[in-house]
Amino acid sequence: MINLKTDEEITLMRESNNLVGKTLGELARWVAPGITTLRLDHIAEEFIRDNGGIPGFKGYGGFPFTLCISVNENIVHGFPSSYVLRDGDIVSIDCGAIVAGYNGDSAYTFPVGNVAPEVMALLKTTKESLYQGIEKAVAGNRIGDISNAVQTYCEARGYSVVREFIGHGIGRKLHEDPEVPNYGRRGCGPLLKKGMCIAIEPMINLGSRNVVVEKDGWTARTRDRKPSAHYEHTVAITDSSAEILSSFEYIEQVLGENSI
Ligand code: MG
Ligand code: MG
Repeated sequence: MINLKTDEEITLMRESNNLVGKTLGELARWVAPGITTLRLDHIAEEFIRDNGGIPGFKGYGGFPFTLCISVNENIVHGFPSSYVLRDGDIVSIDCGAIVAGYNGDSAYTFPVGNVAPEVMALLKTTKESLYQGIEKAVAGNRIGDISNAVQTYCEARGYSVVREFIGHGIGRKLHEDPEVPNYGRRGCGPLLKKGMCIAIEPMINLGSRNVVVEKDGWTARTRDRKPSAHYEHTVAITDSSAEILSSFEYIEQVLGENSI
């Protein structure tokens, strides 16, 4: 069942997603060679709580941390750990926060120091594909229009699209209907209606699309161990262009000229 949100609910979704955006902006100050991913998790949890939110992922389905942190060949759902970020890594940070009972959800893949040009190109294309999807997130279109836009944009540039993990409806629950795959056919799937809130989140691989889940039961990585990128926005469907409820602006203020 797809939940349509009232204007009042969307106001609350704006708050939780804005807090997620600010948290990612705070993390952008810290992402650098030498920091552990567990330290990033602590910074995020403190920041969310200091700003009146609750970490949205901690305890969700048994997930033990505030952030999903997925380095290099890890795609999504990685555990923060004692791993020390190194020059040339990429680090995908997925963050969720709850404010007044509503969930925010957004992810960004950061380059750490000097990253190989072919990997920077993967990040750029993945981020661009998110906005290609958002362009199709308009009342009257269907989910497949979003899915197809992401898929064709990435595959035309030689990248592969992860199938096992997808975007989702979002609201009082982190994961609601509908499913939002990053692959599919135009004109197929549920109809988009004003008041729907969805998280669009392309996960795009430099090599093949095949995925392995590690023994921890969470961390998903590429089978060929080539890098993978992940960008995510939560958006509200309106009668015109989608309203992006989350924000990369706080990140981009910090990264300046080094933004993807
Ligand atoms: Mg997320
Ligand atoms: Mg999500």
